[in-house]
Amino acid sequence: MPTHVSIHDVSPAWAREVGAALALCRAAGVRPALLVVPNYHGQAPLLEDASFVAQLRLLQGEGHEIYLHGLTHRSGARREAGSGAGRLSWLFAQRVVSNGEAEWMGLPPEEGERRLDAGERVLREAGLRTDGCVAPAWSMPRWLLPMLAARGVTYTEDHLRVYDPAHGRSRVSIVLNWASRSPARLLSSASYCRMAEQARALLPVPVRIAIHPTDMHYLFLRREVERALRQARGDFVEKGSQLLQPDATSPVWGALTPGGSPWRVHKGDGCPGHARGPEARPRHPSDTKLPR
Ligand SMILES: [Zn+2]
Repeated sequence: MPTHVSIHDVSPAWAREVGAALALCRAAGVRPALLVVPNYHGQAPLLEDASFVAQLRLLQGEGHEIYLHGLTHRSGARREAGSGAGRLSWLFAQRVVSNGEAEWMGLPPEEGERRLDAGERVLREAGLRTDGCVAPAWSMPRWLLPMLAARGVTYTEDHLRVYDPAHGRSRVSIVLNWASRSPARLLSSASYCRMAEQARALLPVPVRIAIHPTDMHYLFLRREVERALRQARGDFVEKGSQLLQPDATSPVWGALTPGGSPWRVHKGDGCPGHARGPEARPRHPSDTKLPR
């Protein structure tokens, strides 16, 4: 099945680790997408590192896709999460899925839109084209898909699916992702990835290999990443949108959701004040705020 590779948390803060991950990908013969954080944890402004920015421009020129990946990749104060179900999903995203890195979970849509604008502006000023947008920790608040659709964004993803927001389509996708926050997580995620690799042959769904900078800190994980890349050789696709192309061999799990219907904001999802309203339709691609 088609397999897409990405390097997460691309920032001057992780320059050495991103370089190491790129070297692994080069050796495997694949150009990964780069998930760029404009100001990682508020401590690493992209625009202040001219040589890092120049490298990114070079990489994009060579065919790497660049996705906006949050603004700071740091979650806000707990008070932003509100109460009830919103607070529960915020806690899940921050404590279970990530280590307080699910930046967009719990944000009101107005603040989310401000951060999207600010992130896009940084990439534009860096001379980079935004090829997609992926929420930090893959934690997407409900306002995000309609907002990306309204901007004409054609690729995003979470833990379970890949999406084309502009055309209202999505499909299930396996992601191989290693966790290094503790030895137990490291081992369990490596076991999961090995099982998922076996499942590749059985489940007709597109696959993603997600490499994080901290994976490069462990020889064991570097070898696991190398192994996964080796096994996927021959299946690589280098554009996220290729995972969403109709595929006759994937009638059930890999089936696309029906196209043509825009993402809608559901009642009670905490975005009643969204400026574009629930009926926001994707604009013509030429209207998009994202540089193409
Ligand atoms: Zn990330």
